[in-house]
Amino acid sequence: MHVHVADHPLISHKLTVLRDASTDSPTFRRLAEELVTLLAYEATRDVRVEPVTVTTPVAQADGVRLSTPRPLVVPILRAGLGMLEGMQRLLPTAEVGFLGMIRNEETLLAETYAERLPDDLSGRQCYVLDPMLATGGTLVDAIDFLVRRGTDHITAITLLAAPEGVAHVEAQLAEVDVPVNLVTAGLDERLDDNGYIVPGLGDAGDRLYGVVD
Ligand code: URA
Repeated sequence: MHVHVADHPLISHKLTVLRDASTDSPTFRRLAEELVTLLAYEATRDVRVEPVTVTTPVAQADGVRLSTPRPLVVPILRAGLGMLEGMQRLLPTAEVGFLGMIRNEETLLAETYAERLPDDLSGRQCYVLDPMLATGGTLVDAIDFLVRRGTDHITAITLLAAPEGVAHVEAQLAEVDVPVNLVTAGLDERLDDNGYIVPGLGDAGDRLYGVVD
């Protein structure tokens, strides 16, 4: 897996405010969206395009447009939903599919509870949105899901990642024949015993949407 940790002062600034426990939910949501738009710029560096010629008021100009099939953006419910608008700002014509996954807090394993994705993803680039790459279980399952549907290129966008999670995804990808990239705003120190990223930003879903018991 190719890992890109975004290195930009604006990204670091916004991430620092996100981490701050005193940042309220409306500010957290707005900053998460802004961060994703900045990350999307990096993440779409290899988005597929095809040549096109347009007529300017002066002459003809050669350019490019997004290829078809359109890229597919896949937010992992629930916290990935907080990243969707930021991604769509940069890729407004991408299609969106949903994958509902929840982490079992006892086993720390990911369980799929909902999916709304095209049956056939052949030739499609997929952009998976999940704010926290912690143990990596959710991302491994999401990748497995998308590869079984036929995608040939996956980019995961996260706000934060833990080294243990990155290592886990890389180990599981040994069998996977599809290129996978990770673009993240930060690679933190470690996971704690509860599977939280340290120093992290806490529970991203709760900070976006409030606590649900
Ligand atoms: N999920 C979160 O929301 N936060 C973490 O630190 C780890 C997983």
